[in-house]
Amino acid sequence: MADARYERQVPVIGEEGQSRLSGSLVAVVGLGGTGSAASIYLAAAGANLRLIDWDVVEEGNLNRQILYGEGDLGRPKALAAADRLSGLNGEIELEVVHEPLVGWNALRVLSGADLVVDATDNFQARYVLGEACVRLGLPHTFSAVRGTYGLYTFVIPGETPCLRCIFPEPPPEESGPPVLGPTPGVAGTLSAAEAIKHLTGIGSTSRGRLISFDLSGMEFDEISIARNPNCPVCGRGEFERLGAGPERAFVRGDRAYLFLEVGVGDLVRDGWEEVGGEEGRYALLSKGRARVYVYDDGGALVSCPGCGTGEVVSTVTHISEL
Ligand SMILES: [Zn+2]
Repeated sequence: MADARYERQVPVIGEEGQSRLSGSLVAVVGLGGTGSAASIYLAAAGANLRLIDWDVVEEGNLNRQILYGEGDLGRPKALAAADRLSGLNGEIELEVVHEPLVGWNALRVLSGADLVVDATDNFQARYVLGEACVRLGLPHTFSAVRGTYGLYTFVIPGETPCLRCIFPEPPPEESGPPVLGPTPGVAGTLSAAEAIKHLTGIGSTSRGRLISFDLSGMEFDEISIARNPNCPVCGRGEFERLGAGPERAFVRGDRAYLFLEVGVGDLVRDGWEEVGGEEGRYALLSKGRARVYVYDDGGALVSCPGCGTGEVVSTVTHISEL
């Protein structure tokens, strides 16, 4: 390949490998610390990216989310990431998806990708991603980090254990866990390396092995993992999280969310309230980023002032009754 940009990696992956990489589309779900490192390396290597994140950049992100600078504070991460990566490599195509990855949009958001980088930060999203990838037959990376500790593996539906085989039940969730910046940097770098290997056909991935690392003692370890023949997802093909409700808008205090994965009964018991609006029932999503209008016929629109235009960015088609 004549392109000097890739002259140091073509000897590693070959011209055919570079051609495959440059023709591939990787969906990066979650543009935090792990997604930053993964997307920077993938963009630099020449992969086309679909950038999926619903969040906006906050100051507390900057210790580890190396895609962003102080000038990006308050901007949607997917847009800020696209600006940063287009400046890094103008030869790749970048798709911006400023939506959360949830049960009702996962198949649409991920379809057409060749590989998915799971850089989400919670198991509800990971399970949705895992089910969608099994359903679509998409290989994907998995990683999770906390503090100086991380887990990593590579999933190929039908060949390796899926996420549900590895974690039959979600581990306890922790909101805003502590994290040293280099920890998701390692997870994201492993993800990018494995994605490049799988897409170009070089080397071998961590399939069937769960890698753990702890930077505090600089320890890397691994355990063998096996498919569960009775796995509801990859064994029995039950995709309970895809396209599933209940899907309702709730608000509490000055924050509100469109909940798609959590049982309504749990929310009501937790003190959440449903709110009304003039154009049908509505709620503001987290931190005023977006507005959800839910109409009496069951449809809903999500508009997004955070994008700068306030235009509709998504149509919700599976709202359960209000
Ligand atoms: Zn499974």
